[in-house]
Amino acid sequence: MQTNLAAFIKDTAEGKEADAILRKCTHCGMCTATCPTYQLLSDELDGPRGRIYLIKQVLEGATPTAKTQLHLDRCLTCRACETTCPTGVRYGRLVDIGRHLVEARVPRGLIESTWRSLLNAVIPRPALFSSLLFMGRLARPLLPRSLSRKIPQSTVARSWPKASHTRKMLVLEGCAQPSLSPATSAAAARVLDRLGISLERAVGAGCCGAVSFHLNEQEKALDTMRRLIDAWWPYVEQGVEAIVITASGCGVTVKDYGHFLGQDPAYAAKAKRVSELAKDISEVISVEGPRLREARGERREAEKPRVAFHSPCSLQHGLKLNGKVESVLTELGFELVAVPDAHLCCGSAGTYSILQPELSRRLRDNKIAALTGGMPSAILTANIGCQAHLQGATTLPVRHWIEALDEILSPSC
Ligand code: SF4
Ligand code: SF4
Repeated sequence: MQTNLAAFIKDTAEGKEADAILRKCTHCGMCTATCPTYQLLSDELDGPRGRIYLIKQVLEGATPTAKTQLHLDRCLTCRACETTCPTGVRYGRLVDIGRHLVEARVPRGLIESTWRSLLNAVIPRPALFSSLLFMGRLARPLLPRSLSRKIPQSTVARSWPKASHTRKMLVLEGCAQPSLSPATSAAAARVLDRLGISLERAVGAGCCGAVSFHLNEQEKALDTMRRLIDAWWPYVEQGVEAIVITASGCGVTVKDYGHFLGQDPAYAAKAKRVSELAKDISEVISVEGPRLREARGERREAEKPRVAFHSPCSLQHGLKLNGKVESVLTELGFELVAVPDAHLCCGSAGTYSILQPELSRRLRDNKIAALTGGMPSAILTANIGCQAHLQGATTLPVRHWIEALDEILSPSC
């Protein structure tokens, strides 16, 4: 694609990056076939190729409008288009740049701005989020069903093993996950403990910055990233082997810290190191897993849970780890049902389910139909956002796969 970027951006780091991405696009349109919003709306501007054109126009000096913003807002940032694209267009990075530019020039209405500010103020603060969730659970009987189903039931975590091993890894607990699904990090700690690895929690660590970033509060997101690096750094200096992430949506962000903070002289090197250490829990288990197979061996034939795995977009399109969890689960004795259109987003997508409720609901309903068609006993996934979103639409249990693995390895605990 030929480009002619406007003077205001041409020579900036963002401009050069966007220009290089745009020039890789050949307009072929193959990406539209796998775009969830294009499939729902059949509008070129609600597909990747149309959005790329919109962003190109803004970069070339056109004035963005509320319509430009709407089509970019409707994008899930699922990055299915990246997986499909034959020329390697990094759409996710381009849409970040485009949204940042449009956000600065197109004011939002009062209600929408307030709503976005509230989300940005509450979700990244674990204590505040937890208190509001507690109050929501108390008020659940008084709420309309459509709202009460969005508030997940409370769950209890199994015990966290004592840190007794020489091998140590650090965990990202995140902001919403400790309240919504406290069992997940504990399950990761228990499975890793079986492998001779102690999973540590850093004092003062919180949100990874993804929430603010996706709400276009990019400066706030960068500050959140710096704070998390500060909390982790003493552990990194002590030699933790990896930073383990159980929410793939957070994993995509942390693995990009080196990029996000690459221009910050005080944090660039630390951010790069943190990105190098960041691992999705499936990456760790797939390497260390053979010893788990022995533990599972005796029970494998007697007990074969039939489950559906929902692969989050951040796992398959963002981290490019498609198939890894499925292989681990199959190896360890789970029976996976077939899931049609597994490449499509479930509609959770960070705060998308709140900001674009109608599109999100349609995607969720389609996903639930695809996941339950094979009559599984549970749905497993790898990202807290998808987990909470899907749980609101089914009576089947929706859990992180590491919890199911922990349970099958030590069912009587
Ligand atoms: S990121 Fe997802 S929703 Fe957005 S254009 Fe690409 S495929 Fe479509
Ligand atoms: S598939 Fe890739 S090259 Fe083709 S239109 Fe989409 S982004 Fe451009």
